[in-house]
Amino acid sequence: MDIQKLEKLLIEKNEKSFRKKQIYKAVFEEAKSSFLDISTISKDLRVFLDKNLEILPFSKVRVLTSKDGRAHKAVLKLSDGKLLETVLLSPKEDTWSACISSQVGCSLGCAFCATGKCGFVRDLSSDEIVSQVLFWKQYLKQKELGGSFSNIVYMGMGEPFLNWKNVKDSLNILIDEDLFDFGRRNISVSTSGIVKGMQKFVDDFPQINLAISLHFANNTKRGEYMPVNRMYDLDQIRIFLKKYFTKSKRKVFIEYILLKDVNDSEVDIRDLSRFLRSIGSLQLLHVNLIRYNSIEGDFESSSEKIVRRFQYGLRKSGIHCTTRKSMGDDIHGACGQLATDNKKR
Ligand code: SAH
Ligand code: SF4
Repeated sequence: MDIQKLEKLLIEKNEKSFRKKQIYKAVFEEAKSSFLDISTISKDLRVFLDKNLEILPFSKVRVLTSKDGRAHKAVLKLSDGKLLETVLLSPKEDTWSACISSQVGCSLGCAFCATGKCGFVRDLSSDEIVSQVLFWKQYLKQKELGGSFSNIVYMGMGEPFLNWKNVKDSLNILIDEDLFDFGRRNISVSTSGIVKGMQKFVDDFPQINLAISLHFANNTKRGEYMPVNRMYDLDQIRIFLKKYFTKSKRKVFIEYILLKDVNDSEVDIRDLSRFLRSIGSLQLLHVNLIRYNSIEGDFESSSEKIVRRFQYGLRKSGIHCTTRKSMGDDIHGACGQLATDNKKR
C-alpha cells in the first residue's frame, strides 16, 4: 500500500489523524485484503479508499506449493506487466519466513543463479518490496495455514545493494512499529558482496542480519563464476569485515553453495578457512553451506559425503558452520531458482 498516497487521501477527506493508524492496523497487522472489510472506519471512507488506492501493487498470477507444503512460490504481475517471484517457507513447524525480491532480474550474472541468467529488468519500489510480505500475510490468513510469521530474508531475485534507496525505505517500513513491526533481528539481507552497499547497510541498520554470498575463497575462481568479484574482490570484503568487527559484535553469515568439482575440494576448504581466519573474529562468522539447486547449466550439487566432509573440515579449523536444508526445489522456489521469464514483456 502506498503510504504517502493514503496520507494524501485522508487529508483530502478531512479525516482525523487516528484514522491512519486504524487503517495501518487493519492492513498490516490484520492482513485485510480489501478496504471494504475494515469495520473500524466509515462505509463512505471504505468505498472511497477502495476506489482510489490499492492494497497490493501487483496481482497474483499463480502460487505453486511444494509436495511437503512447506514452500510456496508466487508469481506476481506488477502494474507495468513485469513479473516478480517471491517465496514463503516453513523451515520449522508453525514458523514462516518470506524470501523477498529486491529487483526484477539481476545485473550481476552469477553463473550458477537462475535470476542472474535472466539479466536485469528493473528495480522494485519500496512498496513493491514490502508488499511481498503483505501478500504472504494475506495468503497465510486466507489459507488458514496457521503458525506465525517470523523472518524476512532478502534472498529472492536481485541484488539488494544495487537498489539501496528502495531497499532502505523497505527496511524502514518493515521495522516501523505502526506498520509491519518486525524485529530487526528477524530480518536478513543477502548480498553478493557489494562492499559500498554493505557499509551503508551496517551504518543504517546495525541490528539487521547481513549475509554475504561468498561461494569462493579464491579471487581467480570467484571472478570466473561471479563477475561481481571484478568490482569488489575478496580483499575488499576482508577489509570491510575486519573494520566492521572492530565496532560491532554482530554475527555475519557467509553463504557458500557447494558445486561439485568446482568449489568443494580440500583446497577449497583450506582457501575458505584461510580467508576467514585472515579476517579474525572467527566467533562472529557463521558459514551456511548451501546445496546447489539445479538450474539449466553446467553445475551439479556436491554429494552428501562431500558436503559432510566440507563441514567437518571447516569445523576442524574452528569455523562455525551449518548446512542449510534446501526447500521448494520441486517448485523451483529454492535459492537461485527464481527466474520468471520477463523477456517477452
Ligand atoms: N543477490 C543477492 C541476493 C539473492 S540471494 C545474493 O546473491 O546474495 C540468493 C542466494 O541464493 C544467494 O546466496 C545466492 O548465491 C544463492 N544461489 C544462487 N543460485 C543458486 C543455486 N542455483 N542454488 C543454490 N543457491 C543459489
Ligand atoms: Fe544476482 Fe545474487 Fe543471483 Fe548473483 S546470486 S546473479 S548477485 S541474485
